[in-house]
Amino acid sequence: MAYKITDECISCGSCAGECPVGAISEGANHFEIDADACLDCGACQATCPTNAIEA
Ligand code: SF4
Ligand code: SF4
Repeated sequence: MAYKITDECISCGSCAGECPVGAISEGANHFEIDADACLDCGACQATCPTNAIEA
C-alpha cells in the first residue's frame, strides 16, 4: 500500500522535498504520490500542514 494525498492538499510542496525516491509531484488538482515508487516510509506525512497525506 502506498501513501495517498487527499483533497485537503493546498499544494505547498513541502512533502515533495522530503520524499527519498522523488515519488511526489504536482498533479492537476493537488500534489500526487506515484504509488509504484512510494516505499511507505512516511517521511512526507510528517511535513504536511493540512494532514492531507494518508497511509
Ligand atoms: S511515504 Fe515516503 S516514499 Fe512514499 S511518498 Fe511519502 S516520502 Fe515518498
Ligand atoms: S505537504 Fe501536504 S499540503 Fe503540502 S503539497 Fe504535500 S500534501 Fe499538499
